[in-house]
Amino acid sequence: MFSRRKFLQVGSLGIGSFSIAGFAPKYAGKKPIVLSTWDAGIRANKAAWNVLKNNGRALDAVEQGVMVTENEQNCCVGLGANPDRDGYVTLDASIMDEFANCGSVACLERIKHPISVARKVMENTPHVMLVGQGAQQFALSQGFTLEKDGLSEGAEREYKKWLQKSEYKPGINRENKENQIAAAPARLSDGSWNHDTIGMIALDANGNLSGSCTTSGMGFKMRGRVGDSPIIGAGLFVDNEVGAVVATGQGEDIIRMGGAHTVMEFMRQGLSPEMACKKAIERLLKIKGSKAKEIQACMIAINKQGTYGGYALQKGFNYAVCYADDKNILVDSKFLI
Ligand code: ASP
Repeated sequence: MFSRRKFLQVGSLGIGSFSIAGFAPKYAGKKPIVLSTWDAGIRANKAAWNVLKNNGRALDAVEQGVMVTENEQNCCVGLGANPDRDGYVTLDASIMDEFANCGSVACLERIKHPISVARKVMENTPHVMLVGQGAQQFALSQGFTLEKDGLSEGAEREYKKWLQKSEYKPGINRENKENQIAAAPARLSDGSWNHDTIGMIALDANGNLSGSCTTSGMGFKMRGRVGDSPIIGAGLFVDNEVGAVVATGQGEDIIRMGGAHTVMEFMRQGLSPEMACKKAIERLLKIKGSKAKEIQACMIAINKQGTYGGYALQKGFNYAVCYADDKNILVDSKFLI
């Protein structure tokens, strides 16, 4: 399973990548650029950057980038992830391009790359979203392989642990350790966190924007539960005239406040990506009131000029930014509470 600490070591030693915790560089207006949520984004950005630096399309970059994370034994992305409370790994993903084409899948089982299925939904159907068995059937018809049933070693271990109490307290943990509420196991036994959706947004050399998002959602969720990640306008939104936005955190609340689209509209009104994310998170704080401390919600955005920013409700969120071979940076997000 993916370990955040292990990763930071690798990330800081790796050629062409480094980490500057707590420091958001003053950087604006260059392209291409790619951003992705959490520290797994450093590795994903590298794959995306390979596309972007060769004048590739942002859409290809955001697909190939998050496929890296889907391949890792991450607790929360791809088939190695934690299951729902009935023991099934169900995956959600979405993708959107510069023409406002979009596609998504939800509750997809036993398919290795939900992001690529989402792209096929976008390109090869007249629809935007396919779910459950229908999504799987479509994936198979497009040549995807049905992977074996069952859980990864790490997920099996965590699920057994969870089953001991089988307490259904759906919630996304907060990384802010001083402010933890044990809604879900805060840290898994290998040291990784219990959520790490990867959302990626990119601006390519031709000035076009795209975005992607892929996750197993909330660990030990109710069977059939779908979060914000596959919902266009909530987990992800791209408007090629304005920018691209992606979210991570408590899916129910991100849906409730129309997350990514809200940020987009603030950018359209002229706010910087960081201010637009902040305004949207402030709106969520208003909606949640005293319950805001029980959740985490985080947004990242880029605009058409290649300026970027992010904001979280609570401390602990970080995102990866790459805009050159030797600039793949981990940024600690600002936060409200
Ligand atoms: N937003 C995802 C969901 O609610 C979870 C996450 O970002 O970690 O499914």
